[in-house]
Amino acid sequence: MSSLLVDNIGELVTNGVGADPLGIRRRAAVLVEEDRVVWVGPSAYAPAADHRIDVGGAAVLPGFVDSHAHLVFAGDRAAEFAARMAGEPYTGGGIRTTVGATRAATDGELRATVRRLRGEALRQGTTTMEIKSGYGLNVADEARSLRIAAETSSETTFLGAHVVPAEYADRPDDYVGLVCGPMLAAAAPHAKWIDVFCERGAFDVDHARAILACGQAAGLGVRLHANQLGPGPGVQLGVELGAASVDHCTHLSDADVDALAGTAHTDGFGTTTVATLLPGAEFSTRSPYPDARRLLDAGVTVALATDCNPGSSYTSSMPFCIALAVREMRMTPAEAVWAATAGGARALRRDDLGVLTPGARADLVVLDAPSYLHLAYRPGVPLIRQVIRNGVPQ
Ligand SMILES: [Zn+2]
Repeated sequence: MSSLLVDNIGELVTNGVGADPLGIRRRAAVLVEEDRVVWVGPSAYAPAADHRIDVGGAAVLPGFVDSHAHLVFAGDRAAEFAARMAGEPYTGGGIRTTVGATRAATDGELRATVRRLRGEALRQGTTTMEIKSGYGLNVADEARSLRIAAETSSETTFLGAHVVPAEYADRPDDYVGLVCGPMLAAAAPHAKWIDVFCERGAFDVDHARAILACGQAAGLGVRLHANQLGPGPGVQLGVELGAASVDHCTHLSDADVDALAGTAHTDGFGTTTVATLLPGAEFSTRSPYPDARRLLDAGVTVALATDCNPGSSYTSSMPFCIALAVREMRMTPAEAVWAATAGGARALRRDDLGVLTPGARADLVVLDAPSYLHLAYRPGVPLIRQVIRNGVPQ
């Protein structure tokens, strides 16, 4: 068994139990065996190892867990972005443009895009990335989207209910039947999760409930896009169904916040339904940001993710999202870093990710900085010096 010591860490974010929420240790070392963390402690007491990386006093944190990304698509929508910046509103209607391009693409083209974006994210410190389908919207193209996604991630999500495709525009009930029937059957072998875009102009609450229930019956976990473009029943539907995460949460009522807070674990370990905030979408659509403080103050577990997609948030950068969360959503730097690591892991119901404690997966990010604070303090600067994923330096 090969071992690796990451040594001489000036500031180590463990997200483990400690006096502060990030479980920070100073002058620390991490011992890795195969793909797991097996020891964390002071550098002075570090055990011997086969290989050693001296990080020279730099900060080290768990790899980012990006729990919401749409990577399987073709084409881009730069012109739509430019039009929006010139004043046109975002309606979600552009999704159909990407559907056309995705259906026309070869497997090789889709695979190349997924790998390019996954590589881009990895270089920015993302060691786990959820990947959704949702630009095929027919049986064959949803199934192949998930098959290609599963080559890159074990956290794959069936989003056949992204929008109603043009050919079903007059008969959405028939489309819901397709999603729950043959499409789910073809998608489920490659998917871990099911998701619905529950929004005016996409799927209403009855359709969303029906689709998510079918997914649950097929063994998939539930997550959903909710309350992004306006108030609505999505968040409370997510709580009703025991969703791992409700994503966006931009327009929330008091009852929505109360419903999320009501899913708290009795052990004080946060809420079973996580609120995943996607500030890249508000940035790229020039929309008001979600009220992160209201959620945090109510005790709701918050995750940050990129929503990487060609329409409303074409960024793969978790450090960018951290900077937005701090500057625009008034999260503290510590809250934002926790939400981008341990929070993302909670949103995927993974207790082996987002922490650097014995038994956790050995996903580490070495910063070109002495503290995690620099992720928000130095926005837009490439601060990721080295990434170790599954115990392997990248
Ligand atoms: Zn999304």
